[in-house]
Amino acid sequence: MQFEFLGTGTSSGVPAIACDCPVCTSSDPRDRRLRTSGCLRFRDPHGRERVILIDAGPDLRQQALRARLDRVDAIVFTHNHVDHTFGLDEVRRFNVVMDRAIDVYAEQRTFDALHRVFAHIFESASNVQPSFVASLIPHRIEPGMCFEMYGVRVTPLRLLHGRLPVLGFRFDSAQPKTPDNPLPLGYCTDVSGIPPQTWRDLEGLKTLVLDGLRHRKHPTHFSIGQAISVARQVAAEQTFLVHMSHEVSHNAMERELPEGIRLAYDGLVLGKGTESGESTEAPPE
Ligand SMILES: [Zn+2]
Ligand SMILES: [Zn+2]
Ligand SMILES: [Zn+2]
Repeated sequence: MQFEFLGTGTSSGVPAIACDCPVCTSSDPRDRRLRTSGCLRFRDPHGRERVILIDAGPDLRQQALRARLDRVDAIVFTHNHVDHTFGLDEVRRFNVVMDRAIDVYAEQRTFDALHRVFAHIFESASNVQPSFVASLIPHRIEPGMCFEMYGVRVTPLRLLHGRLPVLGFRFDSAQPKTPDNPLPLGYCTDVSGIPPQTWRDLEGLKTLVLDGLRHRKHPTHFSIGQAISVARQVAAEQTFLVHMSHEVSHNAMERELPEGIRLAYDGLVLGKGTESGESTEAPPE
């Protein structure tokens, strides 16, 4: 079971266009952040490889190439902001490679927006002529409505992104709890508030992925200070911050973070020891 950070940057990406600040011009590859997204890669109970993608942002093509993704079995959407949805068109390549449609899970509000933007996909019968568009199977989800995919249990979590209600996800797996299995994992990007009913579903996490935009406060994202205090309350074994802006230097920030809390970076893979084909049994102590 692996979790890969495909992107860890805020909506404009880092470097930002036309910015010559120290982070945007940094030579540290961890300061180059594509738009925030991640994926779970694992073998299902029948031993087949599976990929669950979280969001499909504008950098999806680049992220898929870098991570050498050769399939996407399902996509779960957190919310309908452009930096999380505008790569949906790209998944048509996975339709071709896998020769099947892709399951998409989102709230009704998110589907409404996707229908407007991607009418050529969702209402492909109205296209002027047949064209190469993604083939998707929509599944409407709601907070607390658990569902299972290939042996992974997914719990949609209600989060607040400013005044906008959005989703986070908790992933639990039936796979053996090896020391490096990153599950149970809570994925909470684009969040500035956690409603009371959600805290219960954040208990007992191995890994928490959490919004940590920048040092200064922001109306719709946790600042790094707020993220640290939420991470302490959740008390996952390890917390990784995502959705950072160009105000955050990876190297400088990591030295200031408390134990157990780190900044994620593009390409970081959790659970590498259980890579496909390798034993998922706990190594001898
Ligand atoms: Zn975002
Ligand atoms: Zn900059
Ligand atoms: Zn957002």
